[in-house]
Amino acid sequence: MSLLEVKNLQVAYGGIQAVKGIDLHINQGELVTLIGANGAGKTTTLKTLVGMVKRAGGSIEYDGKDVASIAPYDFVRHGLAMVPEGRGVFPKLTVEENLHMGAFYRNDKAEILNDIERVYGLFPRLKERQKQLAGTLSGGEQQMVAMGRAMLSRPKLLLLDEPSMGLAPIIVQKIFEIIQMVAAEGVTMLLVEQNAKLALEISQRGYVMESGKITMSGNARDLLDDERVRNAYLGE
Ligand code: ATP
Repeated sequence: MSLLEVKNLQVAYGGIQAVKGIDLHINQGELVTLIGANGAGKTTTLKTLVGMVKRAGGSIEYDGKDVASIAPYDFVRHGLAMVPEGRGVFPKLTVEENLHMGAFYRNDKAEILNDIERVYGLFPRLKERQKQLAGTLSGGEQQMVAMGRAMLSRPKLLLLDEPSMGLAPIIVQKIFEIIQMVAAEGVTMLLVEQNAKLALEISQRGYVMESGKITMSGNARDLLDDERVRNAYLGE
């Protein structure tokens, strides 16, 4: 069953059409990657899914409901969470306080503490640094905080915008391992990535976006083998 169903989505900034009528869907439990060059409209698509940008046309159904019926502050409560590009951690709060922010709407205190321990299990580095201010963490550690914070909201669908951006290759590997671990916990994910090869390697399906349109889609394996994808996105 589709957890997310997007049809003919259109988004414009003033006169510029950033998204020109795209269709995509994500099934329950899937990890799906959206790749594309800079400016293709990937971030705009994600922002539109969580109501940060208004659509000009088309429909977005999440969990059987039109997302327009969900207030922007209520997306997280409905299980839709996004980890934005640049991470958006609260720099003046500690690691632990950042994680608590992810659970702001919950009042099951014991479960929250359990979930924080689970996040520390996934990211032992954060456990060591739980009292450190997030603004003083490395880029990779901040990405871990952002993902951990999103986990605290118990998402059904997690949108990740360029989680590997600006990170050293060894940390990128680690972040991709963590994405796989989160997926293994049953979280459905849409991943936007410049690092197309790694992203497709861990995904079931993928979409290619070019100048506001979806130009290719299919099994991640098939996309990895596709000549056009290899030339344009895999640097081969
Ligand atoms: P990148 O990988 O570089 O982030 P992207 O695929 O995520 O690229 P978007 O950020 O969605 O692309 O941008 C799509 C287009 O919309 C670009 O031409 C961009 O300049 C434009 N755009 C994005 N945000 C705005 C905005 N707030 N106002 C006007 N134009 C915008």
